[in-house]
Amino acid sequence: MVDSQTFVIVGASLAGAKAAETLRAEGFDGRIVLVGDEPVRPYERPPLSKGYLRGEVGFDDAAVHAEGFYEDQSIELLTSTTVTAIDPTSKVVTLDPGGSLPYDQVLLSTGAAPRSLSIPGSELAGIHYLRSIESCDALRGALETAERVVVVGGGWIGSEVAASARQLGKDVAMVEAAHVPLERVLGTEVGTIFKDLHTDHGVELHLGVGVEAFRGMDSAEEVVLADGTAVNGDLFVVGVGVIPRTELAEGAGLELNNGVIVDEYLATNVPGIWAAGDVANAYHPVLGSRIRLEHWSAALNQGPVAAKNMVGQKAAYTKIPYFFSDQYDLGMEYSGYAVDWDTLVFRGDQERREFIAFWLAQGRVVAGMNVNVWDVADQIASLVGSKRVVDVGQLEDPDIDLATLAGDR
Ligand code: FAD
Ligand code: NAP
Repeated sequence: MVDSQTFVIVGASLAGAKAAETLRAEGFDGRIVLVGDEPVRPYERPPLSKGYLRGEVGFDDAAVHAEGFYEDQSIELLTSTTVTAIDPTSKVVTLDPGGSLPYDQVLLSTGAAPRSLSIPGSELAGIHYLRSIESCDALRGALETAERVVVVGGGWIGSEVAASARQLGKDVAMVEAAHVPLERVLGTEVGTIFKDLHTDHGVELHLGVGVEAFRGMDSAEEVVLADGTAVNGDLFVVGVGVIPRTELAEGAGLELNNGVIVDEYLATNVPGIWAAGDVANAYHPVLGSRIRLEHWSAALNQGPVAAKNMVGQKAAYTKIPYFFSDQYDLGMEYSGYAVDWDTLVFRGDQERREFIAFWLAQGRVVAGMNVNVWDVADQIASLVGSKRVVDVGQLEDPDIDLATLAGDR
Protein backbone atom coordinates (compact mmCIF):
# COMPACT_ATOMS: atom_id res chain seq x y z
CA MET A 1 0.00 0.00 0.00
CA VAL A 2 1.18 3.52 -0.83
CA ASP A 3 1.60 4.51 2.81
CA SER A 4 4.01 7.40 2.32
CA GLN A 5 1.48 9.25 0.21
CA THR A 6 -0.89 12.11 1.05
CA PHE A 7 -4.47 12.04 -0.15
CA VAL A 8 -6.40 15.29 0.16
CA ILE A 9 -10.20 15.26 0.15
CA VAL A 10 -11.73 18.65 -0.60
CA GLY A 11 -15.20 18.97 0.90
CA ALA A 12 -15.95 17.41 4.29
CA SER A 13 -19.51 16.27 3.79
CA LEU A 14 -21.09 12.91 3.00
CA ALA A 15 -19.08 12.01 -0.13
CA GLY A 16 -15.79 13.20 1.37
CA ALA A 17 -16.28 11.60 4.80
CA LYS A 18 -17.32 8.25 3.32
CA ALA A 19 -14.29 8.36 1.01
CA ALA A 20 -11.97 8.96 3.97
CA GLU A 21 -13.57 6.08 5.87
CA THR A 22 -13.16 3.78 2.85
CA LEU A 23 -9.51 4.70 2.29
CA ARG A 24 -8.73 3.41 5.77
CA ALA A 25 -11.02 0.38 5.39
CA GLU A 26 -9.19 -0.53 2.19
CA GLY A 27 -5.87 -0.44 4.04
CA PHE A 28 -4.46 2.93 2.99
CA ASP A 29 -1.96 3.83 5.70
CA GLY A 30 -0.78 7.15 4.33
CA ARG A 31 -1.85 10.65 5.28
CA ILE A 32 -5.53 11.55 4.74
CA VAL A 33 -6.48 15.22 5.02
CA LEU A 34 -10.20 15.95 4.88
CA VAL A 35 -10.68 19.68 4.32
CA GLY A 36 -14.01 21.38 4.85
CA ASP A 37 -15.04 25.01 4.97
CA GLU A 38 -17.82 24.39 7.48
CA PRO A 39 -17.08 24.68 11.22
CA VAL A 40 -18.41 21.25 12.19
CA ARG A 41 -17.58 17.62 11.41
CA PRO A 42 -19.27 16.06 8.34
CA TYR A 43 -23.04 15.62 8.53
CA GLU A 44 -25.85 14.46 6.29
CA ARG A 45 -28.20 17.10 4.91
CA PRO A 46 -31.54 15.21 4.62
CA PRO A 47 -32.52 15.89 8.27
CA LEU A 48 -32.09 19.64 7.67
CA SER A 49 -35.45 19.86 5.90
CA LYS A 50 -37.06 17.21 8.09
CA GLY A 51 -36.40 16.06 11.68
CA TYR A 52 -33.56 18.48 12.50
CA LEU A 53 -35.49 21.46 11.14
CA ARG A 54 -38.48 20.48 13.25
CA GLY A 55 -36.29 20.11 16.34
CA GLU A 56 -36.91 16.36 16.62
CA VAL A 57 -33.30 15.22 16.22
CA GLY A 58 -29.98 16.84 17.07
CA PHE A 59 -26.66 17.28 15.29
CA ASP A 60 -25.25 13.94 16.43
CA ASP A 61 -28.11 12.15 14.67
CA ALA A 62 -27.19 13.92 11.43
CA ALA A 63 -23.40 13.49 11.73
CA VAL A 64 -21.83 11.03 9.29
CA HIS A 65 -19.54 9.64 11.98
CA ALA A 66 -19.47 9.71 15.77
CA GLU A 67 -17.28 12.28 17.44
CA GLY A 68 -13.74 10.93 17.75
CA PHE A 69 -13.96 8.83 14.57
CA TYR A 70 -11.56 10.97 12.55
CA GLU A 71 -8.99 11.05 15.33
CA ASP A 72 -9.30 7.30 15.89
CA GLN A 73 -8.78 6.69 12.17
CA SER A 74 -5.89 9.16 11.91
CA ILE A 75 -7.86 11.23 9.44
CA GLU A 76 -6.84 14.88 9.69
CA LEU A 77 -10.09 16.80 9.60
CA LEU A 78 -9.53 20.50 8.91
CA THR A 79 -12.76 22.37 9.61
CA SER A 80 -13.40 26.05 8.74
CA THR A 81 -10.72 25.67 6.09
CA THR A 82 -11.22 26.41 2.41
CA VAL A 83 -9.12 24.97 -0.38
CA THR A 84 -8.56 27.99 -2.60
CA ALA A 85 -6.47 26.37 -5.36
CA ILE A 86 -5.24 23.05 -6.64
CA ASP A 87 -2.08 23.07 -8.72
CA PRO A 88 -1.87 19.77 -10.61
CA THR A 89 1.64 20.55 -11.88
CA SER A 90 3.32 21.07 -8.51
CA LYS A 91 0.68 18.84 -6.81
CA VAL A 92 -0.06 21.31 -4.05
CA VAL A 93 -3.36 22.59 -2.64
CA THR A 94 -3.56 26.05 -1.13
CA LEU A 95 -5.58 26.65 2.01
CA ASP A 96 -7.42 29.59 3.52
CA PRO A 97 -6.71 30.75 6.31
CA GLY A 98 -3.21 29.94 5.19
CA GLY A 99 -0.78 27.21 4.34
CA SER A 100 -0.56 24.61 1.64
CA LEU A 101 -0.45 20.86 1.35
CA PRO A 102 1.52 18.75 -1.08
CA TYR A 103 -0.61 15.87 -2.34
CA ASP A 104 -0.34 12.65 -4.28
CA GLN A 105 -4.04 12.38 -5.08
CA VAL A 106 -7.07 14.62 -4.57
CA LEU A 107 -10.76 13.87 -4.31
CA LEU A 108 -13.09 16.75 -5.09
CA SER A 109 -16.31 16.43 -3.10
CA THR A 110 -17.21 20.09 -3.03
CA GLY A 111 -20.92 19.49 -3.56
CA ALA A 112 -23.29 22.20 -4.68
CA ALA A 113 -24.53 25.59 -3.50
CA PRO A 114 -28.06 27.03 -3.68
CA ARG A 115 -28.92 29.05 -6.76
CA SER A 116 -29.80 32.59 -5.70
CA LEU A 117 -32.94 34.25 -6.81
CA SER A 118 -31.92 37.62 -8.25
CA ILE A 119 -35.04 39.69 -8.30
CA PRO A 120 -35.81 43.10 -6.82
CA GLY A 121 -35.97 42.87 -3.04
CA SER A 122 -33.97 39.66 -2.77
CA GLU A 123 -31.54 41.40 -0.42
CA LEU A 124 -34.28 41.97 2.20
CA ALA A 125 -34.00 40.23 5.56
CA GLY A 126 -36.28 37.28 6.22
CA ILE A 127 -35.43 35.43 2.98
CA HIS A 128 -33.75 32.10 3.74
CA TYR A 129 -31.88 29.49 1.72
CA LEU A 130 -31.26 26.01 3.10
CA ARG A 131 -28.09 24.03 2.56
CA SER A 132 -25.78 24.04 5.59
CA ILE A 133 -26.44 23.35 9.24
CA GLU A 134 -25.77 27.04 9.81
CA SER A 135 -28.50 28.04 7.37
CA CYS A 136 -30.78 25.43 8.95
CA ASP A 137 -30.18 26.77 12.45
CA ALA A 138 -31.04 30.27 11.19
CA LEU A 139 -34.24 28.99 9.58
CA ARG A 140 -35.14 26.96 12.64
CA GLY A 141 -34.72 30.04 14.83
CA ALA A 142 -36.84 32.15 12.50
CA LEU A 143 -39.55 29.47 12.43
CA GLU A 144 -40.00 29.79 16.18
CA THR A 145 -41.66 33.18 15.82
CA ALA A 146 -42.95 33.04 12.23
CA GLU A 147 -46.64 32.63 11.66
CA ARG A 148 -46.78 32.40 7.89
CA VAL A 149 -44.08 30.82 5.76
CA VAL A 150 -43.82 31.20 1.99
CA VAL A 151 -41.65 28.71 0.11
CA VAL A 152 -40.49 29.84 -3.31
CA GLY A 153 -39.84 26.77 -5.46
CA GLY A 154 -41.82 23.55 -5.39
CA GLY A 155 -38.82 21.23 -5.77
CA TRP A 156 -37.40 19.07 -2.97
CA ILE A 157 -36.50 21.89 -0.59
CA GLY A 158 -39.79 23.69 -1.12
CA SER A 159 -41.86 20.53 -0.71
CA GLU A 160 -40.07 19.23 2.38
CA VAL A 161 -39.83 22.61 4.10
CA ALA A 162 -43.51 23.26 3.39
CA ALA A 163 -44.36 19.91 5.00
CA SER A 164 -42.14 20.55 8.03
CA ALA A 165 -43.50 24.06 8.52
CA ARG A 166 -47.07 22.74 8.42
CA GLN A 167 -46.10 20.05 10.90
CA LEU A 168 -44.87 22.86 13.14
CA GLY A 169 -48.29 24.47 12.85
CA LYS A 170 -47.38 27.36 10.56
CA ASP A 171 -49.52 28.77 7.78
CA VAL A 172 -47.70 27.88 4.56
CA ALA A 173 -47.86 29.05 0.96
CA MET A 174 -45.87 27.53 -1.89
CA VAL A 175 -45.01 29.35 -5.12
CA GLU A 176 -43.83 27.28 -8.06
CA ALA A 177 -43.34 28.20 -11.69
CA ALA A 178 -44.38 24.75 -12.95
CA HIS A 179 -47.98 23.53 -12.84
CA VAL A 180 -47.40 20.99 -10.08
CA PRO A 181 -44.65 20.52 -7.48
CA LEU A 182 -41.70 18.31 -8.49
CA GLU A 183 -42.87 18.38 -12.09
CA ARG A 184 -39.44 18.25 -13.71
CA VAL A 185 -38.50 14.99 -11.99
CA LEU A 186 -41.83 13.25 -11.58
CA GLY A 187 -43.90 14.63 -14.45
CA THR A 188 -47.36 16.17 -14.30
CA GLU A 189 -49.37 13.11 -13.29
CA VAL A 190 -47.25 12.07 -10.31
CA GLY A 191 -46.53 15.69 -9.45
CA THR A 192 -50.31 16.12 -9.12
CA ILE A 193 -50.28 13.54 -6.32
CA PHE A 194 -47.84 15.80 -4.45
CA LYS A 195 -49.94 18.84 -5.27
CA ASP A 196 -52.95 17.10 -3.69
CA LEU A 197 -50.83 16.01 -0.72
CA HIS A 198 -49.89 19.60 0.09
CA THR A 199 -53.43 20.86 -0.55
CA ASP A 200 -54.80 18.22 1.82
CA HIS A 201 -52.37 19.41 4.46
CA GLY A 202 -53.50 23.00 4.11
CA VAL A 203 -50.72 24.53 1.99
CA GLU A 204 -51.86 27.47 -0.14
CA LEU A 205 -50.50 26.71 -3.61
CA HIS A 206 -49.61 29.29 -6.28
CA LEU A 207 -48.64 27.20 -9.28
CA GLY A 208 -47.75 27.97 -12.88
CA VAL A 209 -46.53 31.44 -12.08
CA GLY A 210 -43.05 32.84 -11.52
CA VAL A 211 -41.91 35.37 -8.94
CA GLU A 212 -41.05 38.96 -9.86
CA ALA A 213 -40.02 40.71 -6.64
CA PHE A 214 -39.95 40.66 -2.89
CA ARG A 215 -41.40 43.70 -1.16
CA GLY A 216 -41.11 44.91 2.39
CA MET A 217 -39.72 47.66 4.59
CA ASP A 218 -36.70 46.13 6.34
CA SER A 219 -37.58 42.51 5.96
CA ALA A 220 -39.57 40.79 3.23
CA GLU A 221 -43.33 41.02 3.72
CA GLU A 222 -44.57 39.69 0.40
CA VAL A 223 -43.46 38.11 -2.82
CA VAL A 224 -45.02 39.47 -5.98
CA LEU A 225 -45.88 36.97 -8.70
CA ALA A 226 -45.80 37.49 -12.45
CA ASP A 227 -49.61 37.73 -12.53
CA GLY A 228 -49.52 40.58 -9.97
CA THR A 229 -50.63 38.50 -6.99
CA ALA A 230 -48.82 39.45 -3.78
CA VAL A 231 -48.29 36.51 -1.43
CA ASN A 232 -47.63 37.75 2.08
CA GLY A 233 -45.57 36.07 4.76
CA ASP A 234 -43.19 36.77 7.61
CA LEU A 235 -40.65 34.15 6.57
CA PHE A 236 -39.59 33.20 3.03
CA VAL A 237 -37.61 30.11 2.02
CA VAL A 238 -36.14 29.95 -1.47
CA GLY A 239 -35.34 26.56 -3.02
CA VAL A 240 -34.80 27.07 -6.73
CA GLY A 241 -32.07 24.53 -7.34
CA VAL A 242 -28.34 24.30 -6.86
CA ILE A 243 -25.17 24.96 -8.80
CA PRO A 244 -22.26 22.50 -8.57
CA ARG A 245 -19.22 24.03 -6.84
CA THR A 246 -16.69 23.83 -9.64
CA GLU A 247 -14.55 26.94 -9.03
CA LEU A 248 -11.58 24.90 -7.83
CA ALA A 249 -11.88 22.37 -10.60
CA GLU A 250 -11.98 25.16 -13.14
CA GLY A 251 -8.81 26.70 -11.72
CA ALA A 252 -7.12 23.30 -11.85
CA GLY A 253 -7.97 22.93 -15.54
CA LEU A 254 -10.41 20.05 -15.12
CA GLU A 255 -12.97 19.31 -17.80
CA LEU A 256 -16.32 20.78 -16.82
CA ASN A 257 -19.83 20.47 -18.13
CA ASN A 258 -22.67 20.68 -15.63
CA GLY A 259 -20.17 19.75 -12.88
CA VAL A 260 -16.81 18.02 -13.06
CA ILE A 261 -16.65 15.48 -15.85
CA VAL A 262 -15.59 12.04 -14.61
CA ASP A 263 -15.62 8.55 -16.11
CA GLU A 264 -17.30 5.53 -14.51
CA TYR A 265 -14.29 5.23 -12.16
CA LEU A 266 -14.89 8.84 -11.04
CA ALA A 267 -11.56 9.91 -12.53
CA THR A 268 -11.29 13.42 -13.97
CA ASN A 269 -9.25 14.22 -17.06
CA VAL A 270 -6.27 15.05 -14.81
CA PRO A 271 -4.52 11.95 -13.42
CA GLY A 272 -4.69 11.71 -9.62
CA ILE A 273 -7.76 13.97 -9.33
CA TRP A 274 -11.17 12.39 -8.75
CA ALA A 275 -14.65 13.75 -8.10
CA ALA A 276 -17.70 12.35 -6.29
CA GLY A 277 -21.15 13.43 -5.11
CA ASP A 278 -23.18 16.47 -6.18
CA VAL A 279 -20.22 18.03 -8.01
CA ALA A 280 -19.49 15.03 -10.25
CA ASN A 281 -21.03 14.54 -13.67
CA ALA A 282 -20.19 10.87 -14.09
CA TYR A 283 -20.55 8.45 -16.96
CA HIS A 284 -22.97 5.75 -15.80
CA PRO A 285 -22.30 2.48 -17.62
CA VAL A 286 -25.74 0.96 -16.94
CA LEU A 287 -27.64 4.04 -18.09
CA GLY A 288 -25.18 4.55 -20.93
CA SER A 289 -25.11 8.28 -20.34
CA ARG A 290 -23.55 10.93 -18.19
CA ILE A 291 -25.46 11.98 -15.09
CA ARG A 292 -24.91 14.40 -12.22
CA LEU A 293 -26.92 13.28 -9.23
CA GLU A 294 -27.91 15.71 -6.50
CA HIS A 295 -28.97 13.15 -3.93
CA TRP A 296 -27.80 11.47 -0.75
CA SER A 297 -27.27 8.01 -2.24
CA ALA A 298 -24.78 9.19 -4.86
CA ALA A 299 -22.68 10.98 -2.24
CA LEU A 300 -22.88 8.00 0.09
CA ASN A 301 -21.79 5.51 -2.56
CA GLN A 302 -19.59 7.48 -4.93
CA GLY A 303 -17.23 8.58 -2.13
CA PRO A 304 -16.27 4.94 -1.38
CA VAL A 305 -15.96 4.05 -5.09
CA ALA A 306 -13.60 6.98 -5.67
CA ALA A 307 -11.57 5.92 -2.61
CA LYS A 308 -11.21 2.38 -3.93
CA ASN A 309 -9.90 3.71 -7.21
CA MET A 310 -7.50 6.04 -5.38
CA VAL A 311 -5.87 2.97 -3.80
CA GLY A 312 -5.48 1.30 -7.16
CA GLN A 313 -8.63 -0.76 -7.55
CA LYS A 314 -10.78 -0.60 -10.66
CA ALA A 315 -14.26 0.02 -9.27
CA ALA A 316 -16.93 1.41 -11.61
CA TYR A 317 -19.88 3.34 -10.17
CA THR A 318 -22.87 1.37 -11.43
CA LYS A 319 -25.47 1.94 -8.73
CA ILE A 320 -28.89 2.75 -10.14
CA PRO A 321 -29.78 6.34 -9.11
CA TYR A 322 -31.82 6.46 -5.91
CA PHE A 323 -33.33 9.09 -3.67
CA PHE A 324 -35.93 9.34 -0.96
CA SER A 325 -38.20 11.98 0.49
CA ASP A 326 -40.48 12.30 3.48
CA GLN A 327 -43.35 14.77 3.47
CA TYR A 328 -45.98 14.59 6.25
CA ASP A 329 -47.04 10.94 6.47
CA LEU A 330 -45.81 10.19 2.95
CA GLY A 331 -42.49 8.42 2.55
CA MET A 332 -41.17 7.64 -0.88
CA GLU A 333 -38.15 6.15 -2.61
CA TYR A 334 -37.32 6.64 -6.28
CA SER A 335 -34.99 4.34 -8.18
CA GLY A 336 -33.87 4.88 -11.74
CA TYR A 337 -33.72 7.87 -13.99
CA ALA A 338 -36.64 8.91 -16.17
CA VAL A 339 -35.99 11.73 -18.60
CA ASP A 340 -38.20 10.62 -21.46
CA TRP A 341 -40.95 8.12 -20.96
CA ASP A 342 -44.01 7.06 -22.95
CA THR A 343 -45.99 5.12 -20.35
CA LEU A 344 -46.77 5.55 -16.66
CA VAL A 345 -48.03 2.53 -14.76
CA PHE A 346 -49.37 2.34 -11.21
CA ARG A 347 -49.46 -0.63 -8.87
CA GLY A 348 -51.43 -0.18 -5.66
CA ASP A 349 -53.76 2.44 -4.29
CA GLN A 350 -53.18 6.03 -5.37
CA GLU A 351 -56.12 7.30 -3.31
CA ARG A 352 -54.55 6.02 -0.09
CA ARG A 353 -51.10 7.07 -1.31
CA GLU A 354 -49.80 3.51 -1.08
CA PHE A 355 -48.53 2.61 -4.50
CA ILE A 356 -45.61 2.15 -6.85
CA ALA A 357 -45.38 4.29 -9.98
CA PHE A 358 -43.31 3.00 -12.90
CA TRP A 359 -42.04 5.14 -15.74
CA LEU A 360 -41.56 3.13 -18.95
CA ALA A 361 -39.84 3.89 -22.23
CA GLN A 362 -40.37 1.44 -25.09
CA GLY A 363 -41.62 -1.26 -22.76
CA ARG A 364 -38.75 -1.02 -20.27
CA VAL A 365 -38.96 0.39 -16.77
CA VAL A 366 -36.65 3.40 -16.56
CA ALA A 367 -37.68 4.44 -13.04
CA GLY A 368 -39.98 3.42 -10.25
CA MET A 369 -41.15 5.18 -7.12
CA ASN A 370 -42.57 3.38 -4.10
CA VAL A 371 -44.84 5.53 -1.96
CA ASN A 372 -45.63 4.22 1.54
CA VAL A 373 -44.79 0.74 0.23
CA TRP A 374 -41.55 -0.64 1.60
CA ASP A 375 -38.75 -3.11 0.90
CA VAL A 376 -39.14 -2.92 -2.87
CA ALA A 377 -36.53 -0.30 -3.84
CA ASP A 378 -33.84 -2.91 -4.55
CA GLN A 379 -36.24 -4.85 -6.74
CA ILE A 380 -37.20 -1.71 -8.64
CA ALA A 381 -33.52 -0.87 -9.15
CA SER A 382 -32.94 -4.39 -10.39
CA LEU A 383 -35.87 -4.07 -12.80
CA VAL A 384 -34.45 -0.81 -14.14
CA GLY A 385 -30.97 -2.32 -14.45
CA SER A 386 -32.29 -5.42 -16.21
CA LYS A 387 -33.64 -3.31 -19.09
CA ARG A 388 -36.16 -6.10 -19.68
CA VAL A 389 -39.30 -5.46 -21.66
CA VAL A 390 -42.11 -5.99 -19.16
CA ASP A 391 -45.78 -6.78 -19.44
CA VAL A 392 -47.79 -3.79 -18.21
CA GLY A 393 -50.52 -6.03 -16.79
CA GLN A 394 -47.96 -7.85 -14.68
CA LEU A 395 -46.39 -4.60 -13.57
CA GLU A 396 -49.78 -3.37 -12.35
CA ASP A 397 -50.52 -6.59 -10.49
CA PRO A 398 -49.36 -6.48 -6.84
CA ASP A 399 -49.38 -10.29 -6.74
CA ILE A 400 -46.58 -10.51 -9.31
CA ASP A 401 -43.18 -10.37 -7.68
CA LEU A 402 -41.01 -7.53 -9.03
CA ALA A 403 -37.91 -9.68 -8.68
CA THR A 404 -39.51 -12.18 -11.07
CA LEU A 405 -40.16 -9.41 -13.59
CA ALA A 406 -36.51 -8.37 -13.26
CA GLY A 407 -35.43 -11.95 -13.97
CA ASP A 408 -33.85 -12.30 -10.52
CA ARG A 409 -36.01 -15.29 -9.63
P1 FAD B 1 -22.28 18.56 -0.09
O1 FAD B 1 -23.18 17.94 0.91
O2 FAD B 1 -22.75 19.78 -0.82
O3 FAD B 1 -20.92 18.91 0.66
C1 FAD B 1 -19.86 19.57 0.06
C2 FAD B 1 -19.00 20.14 1.17
O4 FAD B 1 -17.82 20.71 0.61
C3 FAD B 1 -19.68 21.27 1.92
O5 FAD B 1 -19.47 21.12 3.29
C4 FAD B 1 -19.00 22.52 1.38
O6 FAD B 1 -19.06 23.57 2.29
C5 FAD B 1 -17.59 21.97 1.20
N1 FAD B 1 -16.73 22.73 0.26
C6 FAD B 1 -17.05 23.16 -0.98
N2 FAD B 1 -15.99 23.77 -1.56
C7 FAD B 1 -14.97 23.73 -0.65
C8 FAD B 1 -13.64 24.18 -0.65
N3 FAD B 1 -13.11 24.81 -1.70
N4 FAD B 1 -12.88 23.98 0.44
C9 FAD B 1 -13.39 23.33 1.53
N5 FAD B 1 -14.65 22.86 1.57
C10 FAD B 1 -15.43 23.06 0.51
N6 FAD B 1 -31.01 13.81 -0.88
C11 FAD B 1 -31.79 12.70 -0.81
O7 FAD B 1 -31.56 11.73 -1.55
N7 FAD B 1 -32.83 12.63 0.06
C12 FAD B 1 -33.15 13.63 0.91
O8 FAD B 1 -34.10 13.52 1.67
C13 FAD B 1 -32.35 14.82 0.84
N8 FAD B 1 -32.64 15.86 1.65
C14 FAD B 1 -31.89 16.99 1.57
C15 FAD B 1 -32.24 18.06 2.39
C16 FAD B 1 -31.52 19.25 2.31
C17 FAD B 1 -31.91 20.40 3.19
C18 FAD B 1 -30.45 19.36 1.40
C19 FAD B 1 -29.68 20.65 1.31
C20 FAD B 1 -30.11 18.31 0.58
C21 FAD B 1 -30.82 17.10 0.67
N9 FAD B 1 -30.53 16.00 -0.14
C22 FAD B 1 -31.28 14.86 -0.07
C23 FAD B 1 -29.39 16.06 -1.08
C24 FAD B 1 -28.11 15.54 -0.42
O9 FAD B 1 -27.97 16.08 0.87
C25 FAD B 1 -26.90 15.93 -1.28
O10 FAD B 1 -27.01 15.27 -2.50
C26 FAD B 1 -25.60 15.60 -0.58
O11 FAD B 1 -25.43 16.43 0.54
C27 FAD B 1 -24.40 15.77 -1.50
O12 FAD B 1 -23.26 15.45 -0.76
P2 FAD B 1 -21.81 15.92 -1.22
O13 FAD B 1 -20.88 15.39 -0.17
O14 FAD B 1 -21.58 15.58 -2.62
O15 FAD B 1 -21.84 17.51 -1.18
P1 NAP C 1 -34.73 21.40 -7.08
O1 NAP C 1 -35.24 20.14 -6.51
O2 NAP C 1 -33.90 21.39 -8.29
O3 NAP C 1 -36.01 22.28 -7.30
C1 NAP C 1 -35.97 23.63 -7.66
C2 NAP C 1 -37.40 24.04 -7.97
O4 NAP C 1 -37.48 25.43 -8.07
C3 NAP C 1 -37.92 23.44 -9.25
O5 NAP C 1 -39.23 23.01 -9.07
C4 NAP C 1 -37.82 24.62 -10.18
O6 NAP C 1 -38.76 24.55 -11.24
C5 NAP C 1 -38.18 25.74 -9.26
N1 NAP C 1 -37.73 27.05 -9.72
C6 NAP C 1 -36.60 27.35 -10.39
N2 NAP C 1 -36.52 28.69 -10.59
C7 NAP C 1 -37.65 29.23 -10.01
C8 NAP C 1 -38.16 30.54 -9.88
N3 NAP C 1 -37.49 31.59 -10.37
N4 NAP C 1 -39.34 30.72 -9.23
C9 NAP C 1 -40.02 29.68 -8.71
N5 NAP C 1 -39.59 28.39 -8.83
C10 NAP C 1 -38.42 28.18 -9.46
O7 NAP C 1 -33.87 22.20 -6.01
P2 NAP C 1 -34.16 22.54 -4.49
O8 NAP C 1 -35.55 22.17 -4.13
O9 NAP C 1 -33.70 23.94 -4.32
O10 NAP C 1 -33.17 21.56 -3.73
C11 NAP C 1 -31.77 21.87 -3.67
C12 NAP C 1 -30.96 20.61 -3.73
O11 NAP C 1 -31.19 19.81 -2.59
C13 NAP C 1 -31.23 19.76 -4.93
O12 NAP C 1 -30.02 19.23 -5.37
C14 NAP C 1 -32.09 18.65 -4.38
O13 NAP C 1 -31.94 17.45 -5.10
C15 NAP C 1 -31.56 18.51 -2.98
N6 NAP C 1 -32.59 18.02 -2.07
C16 NAP C 1 -33.01 16.75 -2.25
C17 NAP C 1 -33.99 16.26 -1.44
C18 NAP C 1 -34.45 14.85 -1.66
O14 NAP C 1 -33.87 14.14 -2.46
N7 NAP C 1 -35.46 14.41 -0.92
C19 NAP C 1 -34.55 17.04 -0.45
C20 NAP C 1 -34.11 18.35 -0.30
C21 NAP C 1 -33.12 18.82 -1.13
P3 NAP C 1 -38.25 24.00 -12.67
O15 NAP C 1 -37.79 22.59 -12.44
O16 NAP C 1 -39.46 24.10 -13.50
O17 NAP C 1 -37.11 24.89 -13.08
